[in-house]
Amino acid sequence: MMKRLRTVRGRFALWTAGLLLVGLSVFGFYVYQSMARRLATAVDESLTLVGAQVVAGLDIVKDRLVSSESFTEEPENVDLQRRGYTVWVTRPEGQVIHAFGPYQHLDLLSGGTAAFSTQSDPETGDAVRVHVVPVPGEARQVAAVQVAHSLEDSRETLERLATTLLIGVPGLVAAAALGGYLLAARALSPIDRIIQTARRISAEDLSARLDLPVVDDEVGRLAVTFDEMLARLEMSFRRERQFTTDASHELRTPLSAMQAILGTVRARRRTPAEYDRALADLAEESDRLQSLTDDLLRLARGDARAPESREAVELSTLLADLCDSMRPLAQAKGLSLTCQVPEDLTVLGDRDDLIRLFGNLLQNAVKYTESGAIKVSAEAAADGTVSIHVADSGGGIDSEHLPRIFDRFYRVDPSRASPGAGLGLAIAQEIARSHGGSIEVSSQVGQGTHFTVTLPDSARPASPGIHPAT
Ligand code: ADP
Repeated sequence: MMKRLRTVRGRFALWTAGLLLVGLSVFGFYVYQSMARRLATAVDESLTLVGAQVVAGLDIVKDRLVSSESFTEEPENVDLQRRGYTVWVTRPEGQVIHAFGPYQHLDLLSGGTAAFSTQSDPETGDAVRVHVVPVPGEARQVAAVQVAHSLEDSRETLERLATTLLIGVPGLVAAAALGGYLLAARALSPIDRIIQTARRISAEDLSARLDLPVVDDEVGRLAVTFDEMLARLEMSFRRERQFTTDASHELRTPLSAMQAILGTVRARRRTPAEYDRALADLAEESDRLQSLTDDLLRLARGDARAPESREAVELSTLLADLCDSMRPLAQAKGLSLTCQVPEDLTVLGDRDDLIRLFGNLLQNAVKYTESGAIKVSAEAAADGTVSIHVADSGGGIDSEHLPRIFDRFYRVDPSRASPGAGLGLAIAQEIARSHGGSIEVSSQVGQGTHFTVTLPDSARPASPGIHPAT
């Protein structure tokens, strides 16, 4: 029982039953009371009526009651007797003149004033209602009429009503409790499924789903939401696992290269020139490893960097400095690199992150462009954002690959010909997002690629998605 009460359906049934019990009890009490009152009034009214009728039938001459032998046989009195009435006609002093009816042994009431009383019949033990009516003459009271009738009928009626209520109310309450329990159990049965499924779920196996039939109510929506949440969790766990696999794989490549170099060098004594070359190769692989672990750390950290490190960063200087540092590399490939950024353009953000974001885009532009020009430009938009463009005239990206280039470890040409692990754009996107901005790309094969980064303008901090540091 206690266990049942810990369930919603148990409590629901109990509350239904409790409320119904209180409601029906109050209702039953009211019905019983008003029935009792109505029955009592009906008896008193009939006694008043009969009393008046008997008084009207009396033969009074000059303030004297003429006693008639046939009083009891008169048709109206026979009828009263048949209907169970007991009638006395007495002189004012109490001497009985006429009497008929079943309750002859009741005490006579004093006939001075009209009155009602309830007595118990000494012979039968019945409750009897008695009404006395004085009969006035012209100068003095002539007689008194006393009428009585049993209250047993009323008592029986009330008893039957009480029995009906005492059986009916608990019966209804029990039925309501059971009904409430079953209804609640039916409505809540998906919750039990949710509980069982949730118990089965672990990080290793997130494939469990409720797959309940879709019902558009609270519980139905909860089930759907639960399944959607599981799907999202499963997806993100899978992505994390994939990320770890890819990362280990990427880390293994430079490590294997280093081991190979070491193996060859140690096989026999080498000339100083050979050692120098081997060291240079090792340094190169170690650099690769370094930048890879940097990238991995940045991605693993996500946007966990505290917003306090955000400051108003002046874009014109930041981008100009970046262009300057990239220019030698571009010029070595015969590319022109221009930077057109208006003065006083600032965004709210983390300077190191922003350098990394635009550095990755610029490096890609130089890396994947064979001839032509790279253009960096920026402008503030009316909606409180700043757009920064990095456009190149390189080979472009096929539309088949375009949607995936921001994925971690995704490379259009996975050969080792061009350095990189496919993390640059993933990091760029992560940084843009963590700054409340976004990054978009458009590209035409053979014509070039155009990246657009949109960031909230620090001069208009009201724009959504970014909370200025205080
Ligand atoms: P990585 O440069 O290390 O390969 P990224 O995440 O920076 O990784 O880029 C993913 C892929 O997108 C690259 O491998 C490249 O194929 C493509 N890509 C990126 N930028 C450009 C660009 N400016 N022009 C052409 N292809 C690009």
